[in-house]
Amino acid sequence: KFNTDLGQHILKNPGVAQAIVDKADLKQSDIVLEVGPGTGNLTAKILDKAKRVIACEADPRMAAEVTKRFQGTPAGKRLEVILGDVLKHQQLPYFDVCISNTPYQISSPLTFKLIALSPAPRACVLMFQREFAMRLFARPGDKLYSRLSVNVQMWAKVTHVMKVGKNNFNPPPQVESNVVKIVPKVPRPQISYDEWDGLLRVCFVRKNRTLRSAFLGTTSVLDMLESNYRTFCAQNDIVLEDGPSDQTVEDADMDGAVEDDEELGGMDLDDEDDVPDFFKEEEDRKAKKAKGNPNRKKRGKVAELVRSKVQKVLVEDTDLAERRARMCDEGDFLKLLYSFNQEDSSDI
Ligand code: SAM
Repeated sequence: KFNTDLGQHILKNPGVAQAIVDKADLKQSDIVLEVGPGTGNLTAKILDKAKRVIACEADPRMAAEVTKRFQGTPAGKRLEVILGDVLKHQQLPYFDVCISNTPYQISSPLTFKLIALSPAPRACVLMFQREFAMRLFARPGDKLYSRLSVNVQMWAKVTHVMKVGKNNFNPPPQVESNVVKIVPKVPRPQISYDEWDGLLRVCFVRKNRTLRSAFLGTTSVLDMLESNYRTFCAQNDIVLEDGPSDQTVEDADMDGAVEDDEELGGMDLDDEDDVPDFFKEEEDRKAKKAKGNPNRKKRGKVAELVRSKVQKVLVEDTDLAERRARMCDEGDFLKLLYSFNQEDSSDI
């Protein structure tokens, strides 16, 4: 009967539905957007508290069912059902608060769609599968702190509301769920989404990779930073001292290689267990020499300036999570960036 491809897991526990609505702190004058009303269990609780409910449902059968459920009742006059994929609606009607037992397939794009709306909703109370929810409110140092956490927390304050076990749904989903409350920041931070997301893509380029190696260990990132910085300076009438730098420095790619090796922490050494130490030392020395020489080169003054600015941000003696947290500050560092890659964010 239910289409689980559309995330149709009906909330059967009225206590949970009531708790979700209570957490939204609705006012009698509020217009609420409900994403995926399904058979209308949550809709009924929202209608009790709000002035109007706009319910957006992708499945025509469900849209018909929820319409029928409230037809002819006083509450039915305050319910508007829109048929279609909520992500495809270019212009959603105005609403104050969003409440949803979210179809989990659209968790990430829905979150970003809601956060990007102007005017921003006052709050969104949303049920997600547990790991996604935990990534949304993870703090620096938490295991699940990720690009998604940093990105969403730039635009909104996220708090955990409650855990919901899978047996509260029909049919029960594979995973447990959590409810979160997302309150968009007002006014919206005055930075470009693409620029911020581009920065984060570099920060979180690979699991366990340190920020230092992500930024300073890749020539292409440094080149991009330099070019962005030049553009930024040109736009802001900042005169740069240009030309070749006096310093000779190790090429950036080498720094990265060294740092990544350190991070592997001996995991890759199995094959080399039989090699006696003195051979290994000699080999290491040779490898270092071969690697080192061609990588020593002169860089321009602007490149050096950018490199030193980046280094200043990436203080060495703080741990990884803290360093990542520092990246969230809308500080000078952000100004180094002008136009990072603008891929879509679907893999968040
Ligand atoms: N709100 C109901 C409840 O709590 O019992 C149903 C929640 S169920 C987890 C998700 C609902 O979202 C389903 O009715 C499904 O058909 C609908 N849905 C799935 N994808 C959607 C989309 N892209 N836009 C709008 N609704 C969608």
